[in-house]
Amino acid sequence: MNNLNRDNESAILGLISSRRIPHTVIIESADKDERDSAALLLAAGAVCKADERPCMSCTACKKAMEGIHPDIFVPEPSKNLKSGILSLKDLRDNYLSQMSIKPNEADIKVYIFSEADKLLREDSQNALLKTIEEPPQNLLFIFTVESSKSLLLTVRSRARIITLRRSEITDTDSEELAAEIAGGIVSAHEYDLLLTLSRLSDKDRLRAALTAFTEMLRKALSFYSGIPTSDESVKRLTRKLNRSKVIALTEATNEAVSRLKTNVNIQLLTTWLSSQYRRITWQK
Ligand SMILES: [Zn+2]
Repeated sequence: MNNLNRDNESAILGLISSRRIPHTVIIESADKDERDSAALLLAAGAVCKADERPCMSCTACKKAMEGIHPDIFVPEPSKNLKSGILSLKDLRDNYLSQMSIKPNEADIKVYIFSEADKLLREDSQNALLKTIEEPPQNLLFIFTVESSKSLLLTVRSRARIITLRRSEITDTDSEELAAEIAGGIVSAHEYDLLLTLSRLSDKDRLRAALTAFTEMLRKALSFYSGIPTSDESVKRLTRKLNRSKVIALTEATNEAVSRLKTNVNIQLLTTWLSSQYRRITWQK
């Protein structure tokens, strides 16, 4: 569910814990999963009533994460228009006219304008401007975009802009993660591998770990061809697995890396990969 790396998660949590969430927040990121996750986390933090927000365990948080909280609105594109645009008329009739009505359950109403630059044309952004300029106490607007520059300057200048950043991952980190994956594969405990992979919950870390693991598998293949290695993880892999299994592991890893380029759910991907590794390792 949560595709945020630690730095980005703390940026959002910092905004919530200040107890003074700005009325308008623009979340920009090159990664759509990431900006959606950040928006949802911020929305949950806004409707949660626990001391540590978002607590992720109260009814409000659960409803927020399931997308069923009655005070979190995600305006959708107009059905009669193509290409993801919300018409000014629909914005007025379905959303703007309701904004002054009090929240149902929370202390605040949250509007998440996902892919806001595509959803809201200039006329719609201008229509929201009055509310952005003089926001009622209990209203939060969240705009998610690839780049905040795609929104009107008048909107931008009145919003808090949160720029999500890619994880900084060193080569050493990646090699350690790859060694952990290799350790999980040769482990007698089935759970070790799933646990290792499930900890790689952010896209950048998973990509780096799998890339380093592919390199490790390449070294294992070279080892079968008579090229020695000093890498202990590679040695352990070659003791436990034969050449064709290492080839099969390489194929599964490459498949996972290519799926990472699509809009994939990380948890489903790591579960899938774990079962592939398991199947390859244990088959005769
Ligand atoms: Zn909560």
